[in-house]
Order: sequence, then structure tokens, then C-alpha cells
Amino acid sequence: MGNFDLLKVKGVSRRDFMKLIAATTAALGLPALIVPQAANALEQALNKPPVIWLEGMDCTGCTESAIATLNPSPSELILDMLSIRYHETIMAGSGKTAEEAYQLALKENFILVVEGSCPEKEDRYCMVGGKPFRTTLIEAAQKAQAIIAIGSCASEGAGIPGACATGAVGVAQILRNAGINKPVINLPCCPVKPDTLIGTILYYLTYQKIPALDSQNRPVAFYGSLLHDNCPRRGHFESGQFLKDWNDPIQKEYCLILKGCKGPKTYTDCAQVWWNDKANFCINAGSPCSGCSEKDFYNEFSPLYSKQEMFKLPGIGEVNADTVGTVLGGAAAVGLGVHFVATATSSRLSKKDHKEGM
Ligand code: SF4
Repeated sequence: MGNFDLLKVKGVSRRDFMKLIAATTAALGLPALIVPQAANALEQALNKPPVIWLEGMDCTGCTESAIATLNPSPSELILDMLSIRYHETIMAGSGKTAEEAYQLALKENFILVVEGSCPEKEDRYCMVGGKPFRTTLIEAAQKAQAIIAIGSCASEGAGIPGACATGAVGVAQILRNAGINKPVINLPCCPVKPDTLIGTILYYLTYQKIPALDSQNRPVAFYGSLLHDNCPRRGHFESGQFLKDWNDPIQKEYCLILKGCKGPKTYTDCAQVWWNDKANFCINAGSPCSGCSEKDFYNEFSPLYSKQEMFKLPGIGEVNADTVGTVLGGAAAVGLGVHFVATATSSRLSKKDHKEGM
């Protein structure tokens, strides 16, 4: 079945498809002029580079995030059109059949998607198909035309497994250790958003190069803005209204910084994009941001709900969350918020943090 036959089955016309491509390219900050080029790149998709999707030390949450959409969303449709040749969780085959599918895909010009972290030294912690996951990862990375690490575990900080005794690290670290000098596109978040993965693949297929990345090798298009700047609770922060008691309904919408929110140091588009077909995201659901798009998650940011956060503020120095809430509070926090944002946007997102696409 061809690509657009598949879309018709799902009740999507070509016109709708072009609208979806336009929405995705707009999310990437790309000009409308490239929409036909992007659609054409995707139309070639069944003759296109296949995808090998490896899983190491993971919870399959990123797979769930990518495939569990409620309606035919842009992400679902584009994923349908990709040729995912090997995926341990969703492929029908297992054992010898799965291994043969992997070996066949290895001979092609494939894109490698990696979910989960990898033990840096010990091989006994993560064996897949009778082999150390690290061996498979290095083998596939050497042959891949592009490498995308999805979720916090596969990205630079290695997520929750990175805080454990297994010596787990992200994909880029494993490749550096093995002397493989290939760029790894990191798409952290726990889990990755489907829009982020699809947008990155779409950009790559269209331009045959990876998008502009920041200092943690994350696409600037998705990780270029500070969560705190787009937070629906930001007004309460600036008014010095901080949630202290979960059981007080008056405080329900207040800023969560005293509950450990990492929004002021986390670069992500969560507040704009949300998860689960735009159903919700952490802060809107009442949970402080855990900073899962940053390399310091989880090890440096835990315990997640503690008010241990330290912040450097211009003219004030380092203060903790208690100082923000109980000493400065009220009107002073208004000024504090302005300083805070100015610092964050000017110093943390400087141009030198971003690389050109390669
Ligand atoms: Fe939102 Fe967290 Fe910033 Fe408060 S500290 S405004 S909850 S991002």
C-alpha cells in the first residue's frame, strides 16, 4: 500500500496531509516555502532510509509516547509512513526472525533511533538477544546515516538509569568511548514528545542534514525556550504567590517553585506542545517540572519535590527557594521575577550555546 493510500484509509486527504506538514514545519520554525519539499521528502519515504529503533535500559515510555496517540495525529501519520524495520517492542517477529530483520536492515542506509541508556563498562547489566547492548549500539551507530537518541535515558544525562549503580550513560558517551565521531541528536524528555521526534526526522529527510543544535546537542527548534518563560503559573511567580500547602484550594494554581519546580533552569517546549494529543503537561496537571529535558536530570535534580533549589540572581547572588518564597515574597518577587527572566534569557541561551546544522 502506498503512502497516500494509507492516508486515505485513515480518512486523511492529500490537502489535510499538506496541512499537517505545514504545521510540523511551522513548529520547527521553517519557512512555508519548504512545505512542498518536505512533503515530497516524505512521499519518498517508503523508498527512503529505513529506521532501526534500538532499546537499551529503558521503560519503553518513549515508544508508548510515540505510538499511543488518540487520533490520526501528524505524528501518527508520519510514523505510519516511516519504514521502521526493527523495533523490539512493536515488531511482530521475535528471536531468530527479529535478529534476521535487524541484520537485513543493517545492510541499508538507515536512520538509527535509540531509546534507553547503556552501561558504560559492565556488559552484564543490559543484554539483548544474547549480546551486550553496547556491542549492538556501536555496530548500528557505525553504519547509520543519522543517529537520534530519544528520551532522557538515551540523551546526554542518561536519565533515571544514569543515577543508578549500573554506570549507565547516554548514546553519545558510548560512541565517544568507542572513538566514533558521529553527531548524535539528543531529544530528551521523559518521555520524548512524538512531535519532537517526527519534526526532527522530517527536517532531516527534507534537508539531508541535522538541525541546529544547542550545547547539549538538542534541536534549538524544540529546546530553545525556557519553560519558566511560557509557564501558565508565571503570573503567580511574579506576584510572589508560591504553593506551600497542596491541600489549600486557594494555592492550587500558584507557582510550584517551593515544591521543587525546575522550570527556571529547563529548556523545553512542554508548555506550548503538551503530551497525549495535547491533553496536558506536568505543571498544568499540578506537578512541579522535574527538568527531564536537561542533562542534570535525574541525578542532580533529585529529590524532585524538594525545595532545595539554588538560584543565582543578579545583584543578590545565590538564594534558595525558601528565600524566594518567604523572605523576598510579595512585591519584591515582582522585581525578582523580572531579574530572573532577564538573566535566564540573556545568559543561558546565548548564541554560543547553539551550533549550526551539520
Ligand atoms: Fe512555572 Fe515552575 Fe516557573 Fe513557577 S517556577 S512559574 S511553576 S516554571
